[in-house]
Amino acid sequence: MVTIENYIGGGMVQPASREYLDNFEPATGTVYSQIPDSDDRDVNLAVDAARTAFPGWSLTPPEARFEILMRLVSLIERDAEELARAESIDNGKPLSLARVMDIPRAASNFRFYATAAMHMANESHETVGQAINYTLRQPLGVVGCISPWNLPLYLFTWKIAPAIAAGCTVVAKPSEVTPMTAYMLSTLCIEAGMPAGVLNIVHGLGPKVGASIVAHRDVKAISFTGGTKTGEDIARTAAPMFKKLSLELGGKNPNIIFADCNYDQALETTVRSSFANQGQICLCGSRIFIERPIYERFKNDLVSRALEMNIGDPLDEATNLGAIVSEPHMQKILSYIELARSEGGTVLTGGNQVTLNGRCANGYFVEPTVIEGLSHDCRTNQEEIFGPVVSLMPFDDENEVINYANSVRYGLSATVWTENLSRAHRVSALLESGIVWVNCWLLRDLRTPFGGVKDSGMGREGGFEALRVFTEEKNVCVKI
Ligand code: NDP
Repeated sequence: MVTIENYIGGGMVQPASREYLDNFEPATGTVYSQIPDSDDRDVNLAVDAARTAFPGWSLTPPEARFEILMRLVSLIERDAEELARAESIDNGKPLSLARVMDIPRAASNFRFYATAAMHMANESHETVGQAINYTLRQPLGVVGCISPWNLPLYLFTWKIAPAIAAGCTVVAKPSEVTPMTAYMLSTLCIEAGMPAGVLNIVHGLGPKVGASIVAHRDVKAISFTGGTKTGEDIARTAAPMFKKLSLELGGKNPNIIFADCNYDQALETTVRSSFANQGQICLCGSRIFIERPIYERFKNDLVSRALEMNIGDPLDEATNLGAIVSEPHMQKILSYIELARSEGGTVLTGGNQVTLNGRCANGYFVEPTVIEGLSHDCRTNQEEIFGPVVSLMPFDDENEVINYANSVRYGLSATVWTENLSRAHRVSALLESGIVWVNCWLLRDLRTPFGGVKDSGMGREGGFEALRVFTEEKNVCVKI
């Protein structure tokens, strides 16, 4: 059984407590590795290492940072299959998905920010005849990066890469539920020659390790992706210390399908946006609004497609719906399906836990579930479920559906399906959402800003925005 260790000051170290937590394989329900049960002492050690490393790293030219980050890219690509397998085992996602999405994206994150840091520009402004003002964009110092379990290495590196590229040093915590690929990354950092203390990874429980990183005075900024409630807790601790915050939080995203859409593409993509990664992507469209003339047809086709899905061992090539990440999360999803029933919803397909044979007999599997008959403002349609569960609602006109879509506290992403160009622009502008996809889903250009509005978060990541999160502008005014 693998025992994961913290990565602090350039080496692998045991937690101060010498205590370890069980790490489960969700597809089998068995413990398959141990992770450090770290606490304040480990976080203090990591912050000290990061603080010591900061002066040297912040003065390292971007070209030299580029070399190290690109070595890391090569190593991730060399070990891609091993990393994909580890991600699938740790999280329950199909290996086929980890291969094409999670691991390639982790490499892309480092590649993108290795180059982006070389293209950050400082502005200058002339006060005519009197002075030249220029803006120095300086790395903040030690920063904290905390990420969730749904896209483990993908989101972990999405934060770490820009922080390091910007010249900050990092104390990072992956989700305790999915620590394995972050652990593997630490060994790759050593191999890549990452200077000691530039990246430190402390494993353990959120309320212990995560909260300790947030509360540490010497951590200047927190980049967090996770649930809205955790985001609130982090903001409460960080605000009195005036820390910079970037919070990427929950969602309850609308998928709006107008009758004039390209039907086949809308259906095909809706199957993915409903059930990819077992519906555990913050950008999944869990509220599906369908214009009434095509409601019955779309509903029947979506139900047929859900019934055709292969629920199975995530390591099996034929599987397209793997395991739910943990037993408690599976119970939460099943309780929401019960809630939907009690609110008057009809479960058109799914709704149950699945028991498989063989290796996965004790795993956490849930059928892809399609519900109809609920009002837009009931709890099932207002609260984030974060599983393979979607709710269908018919609508009759544009204003009505915009009101439904905007009726939740969240505003992360939305999808609009229509062949009417004017309507596409009009509706996109009116949706309270950080990201709107028109006739597509999950297409991401890494140069574009990413983030939510309302209770889906604050701040933007992606592109140069992420480099701005980890740097502070200083104005220098020189009299001429
Ligand atoms: P959580 O908020 O429970 O956890 C996220 C991370 O925060 C984990 O590493 C967790 O550690 C840690 N944590 C928990 N409590 C604290 C605390 N008090 N202080 C500091 N850190 C803490 O989210 P989940 O892991 O359950 O992830 C699912 C959520 O993430 C969903 O709401 C989803 O929508 C959201 N998400 C948002 C995205 C976006 O871009 N907006 C993208 C992906 C997911 P531990 O796991 O050990 O408890």
